[in-house]
Amino acid sequence: MGPVWKLVSGKHQCDRCGREVERVPAVGRVVDFVFRPEEVYCWECYDYIKPLVDTVAPVSDDPYQPVTRPAIP
Ligand SMILES: [Zn+2]
Repeated sequence: MGPVWKLVSGKHQCDRCGREVERVPAVGRVVDFVFRPEEVYCWECYDYIKPLVDTVAPVSDDPYQPVTRPAIP
């Protein structure tokens, strides 16, 4: 499952501008049906970052990525 956005309550520090914000969007993953936020943003930064979410959370769930370089040269 890819990264998802969710509203998080409580006080958080925006990961982009450092502002302290409450009840803001966070991007993260659902692990065992529990949302684990990875990055939290204020609404201003959320608007800015939303179209770029793939570059914000580029972690792939596929553990079998093709090897592009041999481990031993
Ligand atoms: Zn911000």
